[in-house]
Amino acid sequence: MPDVFADLVGQDEAVVELRRAAAAAAAVLRAAAADRAPALLAAGPTGGDEPEAAAVPGGPDVSTGMTHAWIFTGPPGSGRSVAARAFAAALQCVHGTGCGDCPGCHTTMGGTHADVRLVEPEGLSIGVNDMRALVLRAASTPSGGRWQVVVISDADRLTEAAGNALLKAIEEPPPRTVFLLCAPSTHPDDVSVTIRSRCRVVPLRQPPAAAVAEVLVRRDGVAPDVARWAAAAAQGHVGRARRLARDPEARKRREAVLAVPRRLTGVGAAFDAASALIEAAEAEAEASVSEADTTERTALERALGAGGTGRGAAGAMRGAAGQLKELEKRQKSRATRAQRDALDRALVDLAGFYRDALTMALRAPVDPVHTDTAAMAGAGAQKWDAEGSLRRLEAVLACRAAIEANVKPRIAVEAMMLALWKG
Ligand SMILES: [Zn+2]
Repeated sequence: MPDVFADLVGQDEAVVELRRAAAAAAAVLRAAAADRAPALLAAGPTGGDEPEAAAVPGGPDVSTGMTHAWIFTGPPGSGRSVAARAFAAALQCVHGTGCGDCPGCHTTMGGTHADVRLVEPEGLSIGVNDMRALVLRAASTPSGGRWQVVVISDADRLTEAAGNALLKAIEEPPPRTVFLLCAPSTHPDDVSVTIRSRCRVVPLRQPPAAAVAEVLVRRDGVAPDVARWAAAAAQGHVGRARRLARDPEARKRREAVLAVPRRLTGVGAAFDAASALIEAAEAEAEASVSEADTTERTALERALGAGGTGRGAAGAMRGAAGQLKELEKRQKSRATRAQRDALDRALVDLAGFYRDALTMALRAPVDPVHTDTAAMAGAGAQKWDAEGSLRRLEAVLACRAAIEANVKPRIAVEAMMLALWKG
């Protein structure tokens, strides 16, 4: 049975640190238990060998390697939330190791552990009300007797007010509560300086393609040649590599994106390509959220007793309208985020193509990102030279930055396509 860290690809240093911290956390629990039961301590031969640990159960403690607030940073797909979940499992593991086999590991990895809360923002940001409720619940005593763990998977998407609510909890942590934040970096745009100063940072790197391919073969049963191709094409993004290896629709969308450079033959074609890219992102986003939307709406309607005609039904329906409206608002915000994520993935693919053209023009001894369009990138390199390739790469990156800064996606993509066409 592989342990809980097995899926954390190419992050050996982080895994060592997390294992050490989990062992230290287990020692804290043992020492605390020994404190509460001095009779046991006197009788048992192994109870008293962690004398200092119990004194600082929640606070940062260099000597034991355990602390109550962590930030996992790294590029998208490097495994930030995988790392956080594995660490949560190791904290709940009855052996304190993340064995992968005990009930604590199983329920945490399966998302059903009573003392592990996962916050995955559905909209563009995590609001203050959600955060206050979460902080309140996180302060309760862990029902399993170990730790209350709160995993915030996109801490960079906290609203300012939500960040402040979280900061208060991190500043005065309940003794058995551990916060695990995930963010792209510790830049102040992603995580406030005050939150960062209270957390230990675990940096993850972009996993090497070979490591990604290896895990696709071992865990997902992907054929080795497909795994190698998908790992390279996904540029170190583990989840995307798995989708490319297994989902024909994902491969088709990628091919359409990589056909863009070929299609840019004039102004009209540039605008057409912009429309196609936006619409493909919308379609992908629609596919990813529509099922969840329907399920949620049906569940809410059932809970509200839709179609009831008895006494009080009218009043209930008025309240129901408010709740449905709230749900629609949340779903719309989630759809917007899914669209942005899909468009950003497409832009990363496109940037990879121009990066290939650039490295070829420079005759740099590096492997292409997209092996299947390498010939086309080579032709581009000849035609545009290094400077022209670089300008095009920069146009794609500028488009990403503009969308990040809230420029309307269609306008940013149209500007990019024109720049790519003109060079
Ligand atoms: Zn375990």
